[in-house]
Amino acid sequence: MRISVFGTGYVGLVTGTCLADAGHEVICIDVDAAKIQALQQGHIPIYEPGLADLVQRNLAAGRLHFTTDAAWGVSASLLQFIAVGTPADEDGSADLNYVLAVARTLGEHMQDYKLIINKSTVPVGTAEKVQACIQATLSQRQVNLDFDVCSNPEFLKEGAAIADFTQGARIIVGTESARVRELMSQCYAPFLQDQPQKLIFMQVRAAELSKYAANAMLATKISFINEIANLAERMGADIEQIRLGIGSDPRIGPHFIQAGCGYGGSCFPKDVQALAHMAEQVGYRAHLLDAVEQVNHQQKQRMFEKLQDALAKTQGRTSLAGCTLAVWGLAFKPETDDMREAPSRVLLEALWQAGAHVQVYDPQAQAECARIYGTRPDLDLCTSIQQTLMGADALLICTEWQEFRQVSASWLAQHLASKLVIDGRNLYDPLAMQAAGLRYYAIGRGDSL
Ligand code: NAD
Repeated sequence: MRISVFGTGYVGLVTGTCLADAGHEVICIDVDAAKIQALQQGHIPIYEPGLADLVQRNLAAGRLHFTTDAAWGVSASLLQFIAVGTPADEDGSADLNYVLAVARTLGEHMQDYKLIINKSTVPVGTAEKVQACIQATLSQRQVNLDFDVCSNPEFLKEGAAIADFTQGARIIVGTESARVRELMSQCYAPFLQDQPQKLIFMQVRAAELSKYAANAMLATKISFINEIANLAERMGADIEQIRLGIGSDPRIGPHFIQAGCGYGGSCFPKDVQALAHMAEQVGYRAHLLDAVEQVNHQQKQRMFEKLQDALAKTQGRTSLAGCTLAVWGLAFKPETDDMREAPSRVLLEALWQAGAHVQVYDPQAQAECARIYGTRPDLDLCTSIQQTLMGADALLICTEWQEFRQVSASWLAQHLASKLVIDGRNLYDPLAMQAAGLRYYAIGRGDSL
């Protein structure tokens, strides 16, 4: 099929590339000319395992094209995916400006029937807004064309985006139209193999709400376990044992109940807020969603609080001014360079505010950190974990990269003179850390602070 994808961010680029790899003819369109130029050379602007190879292979095969020429993108393809950003507005609602800008572009350049597929995460009712926007643009042109708009929310996870897109648990399509069902079945056929039930058709509004419900559920699980971790800490119980205890119950399951320093990323925080905002608009106070957000906000402060307490207890320091801290992990989760809403940012900013100097290392997000914070005298971007530890008054861990997990307690004890570790991801065995002579403070573990 001939397919165009508007937006070459995490979602658009993965969508376009995987569809091309499945044999479709794909054009990816973006307004960011520098990004498109790099993509045309096969350079991808984000870190996503396996994606660069896949882009290069499909570029070389001539099935994948990158352009800023929206008119070409619209006219060349039957299927038009919208995969642009929907950031949170000041009031927490989703900003639809980018989505509606694409809708206007579609209306301006359409010459025949198009199926418009909304992949961005958008509030319930957006498909109707896109429909109205295209219709209004067509009316201005005084043309009458047939088109459909359907909802096809994306569930991929950064870091595992290709596998999630190609072998995800389900593909949801919101539509009431038989023609759209047929076209979407053709589009996704290469990914269904012997599992046609993975393609789930439903009402447009149900599809739009499913995306928010899924993210809100996952965020709820994280805030729930963090709340229990905070209780466990005060009650002398180890959250890691509790996690195993409850995760073995099939009604609860082992996934997404890992205590830590809070959730981040470009989706959970904004989607929980947007859903709460939607609830308000229909006259419903979403108490649970409010609490999920509050717990997460509080959890992102925990590492800083633990550091303050630990320094006071172990070194008698009441101020962080002049301290040097090692920070491992900047990305909001492993296998990505994305630092949007990352707990590391809350920590770094609190440390700077308190007058501390930080030495950071992340396997992928160093460049992103430099882009966000620029060069500043109280930030050192180190080239290895070992370098961060030189002269550090404590080590703080924000992301569960495998490279950090592999470090042994004895190695840490040897390289970290201050012997103080604040682990926001519960990577190590507290007994082994203690035995190596380290003071180890994790999240929700028995003798932590
Ligand atoms: P992103 O910010 O990484 O990328 C958006 C891209 O759209 C940018 O490259 C931007 O230049 C481009 N763009 C903006 N206006 C445009 C226009 N008029 N025409 C063409 N391109 C335009 O965003 P993302 O992370 O890919 O997210 C896109 C959507 O998918 C959001 O709604 C997000 O909530 C949702 N989503 C994201 C993820 C994720 O893990 N990132 C997962 C599922 C769903």
